[in-house]
Amino acid sequence: MIPKVRRAKTRRMITLEVLANTAPSPAFRTVTLGGPQLAEFEPVGDDQAVRLFFPRAGQDRLRMPTLDNEGWMAEVLMMPKSRRPWVRNYTIRRARPGEIDIEFALHDGDAPAADWARSARPGDPAGVFDLGVSYLPPSEVAWQLLAGDESALPAVLAILENAPADLRAEVFLEVPSRSDVRAVQAPVGVRVHWLPRLRPGRPGALALAAVREADLPAGRAYAWVAGEAALATGVRRHLVRDRGWPKPDIAFLGYWRHGRSSPG
Ligand SMILES: Cc1cc2nc3c(=O)[nH]c(=O)nc-3n(C[C@H](O)[C@H](O)[C@H](O)COP(=O)(O)OP(=O)(O)OC[C@H]3O[C@@H](n4cnc5c(N)ncnc54)[C@H](O)[C@@H]3O)c2cc1C
Repeated sequence: MIPKVRRAKTRRMITLEVLANTAPSPAFRTVTLGGPQLAEFEPVGDDQAVRLFFPRAGQDRLRMPTLDNEGWMAEVLMMPKSRRPWVRNYTIRRARPGEIDIEFALHDGDAPAADWARSARPGDPAGVFDLGVSYLPPSEVAWQLLAGDESALPAVLAILENAPADLRAEVFLEVPSRSDVRAVQAPVGVRVHWLPRLRPGRPGALALAAVREADLPAGRAYAWVAGEAALATGVRRHLVRDRGWPKPDIAFLGYWRHGRSSPG
């Protein structure tokens, strides 16, 4: 199922540059981007995501697609590999006047985006193209369930920071280690269950088990779950089959797939 998304009416391919690269905790990097073209990007908060473009090793500059619509993908594929940029999906963690932050979960493997985040330096180019927001809770729900692994941590924290003061939510956040647990800015009715992996394991498995075993509040709810594909589909299946939730009340997003590189 394709998730429901709310997008800006006009979207632009914009080219920015790295302003800073910091480490909020051992498994994460925050890369701050800015530049004159950021004026053409509208940050809306929540889980707003972008296509992130960055150069491949050995390329002397970033060549962005020119089309401001879904035709960009064909355009990129037509470029010879020597000029084609890498493309990955990332969340706008935070926006300030003239700056946006993207927070990368670092991970092993042949991983262009995680590697780029480790080494990005001020002045390096990066491009973004708005993908919109998929966190779309109906106003009439009594409470919300938010769940994710480390790839969804930026989205969940942004959603909580943007939330109305009366939000009631149960939040399940799996992170690589205890050192990645942090202070959360959220309304008083939000309970955050941190799930650090205490031994090496497949990301998402802990969060899925925690949701399955949780004593959840009563009343109609909305769920937003993102991360490794088995976490997203597993939580949805559990809520529908075992707890009788209506499918439209669940937004589930497979952000990445174990053992598979993102296309692009
Ligand atoms: C809408 C959306 C928003 C997203 N927002 C964020 C975000 O804000 N921060 C973030 O960190 N990620 C985010 N992701 C996930 C990110 O796009 C993927 O993790 C991406 O595949 C990473 O690219 P890569 O080049 O590092 O690795 P890839 O080349 O895609 O994969 C290389 C290998 O690493 C594995 N892998 C990929 N991602 C992870 C991971 N997170 N942990 C462990 N192993 C992994 C793959 O299975 C593969 O074996 C988002 C995804 C979507 C769809």
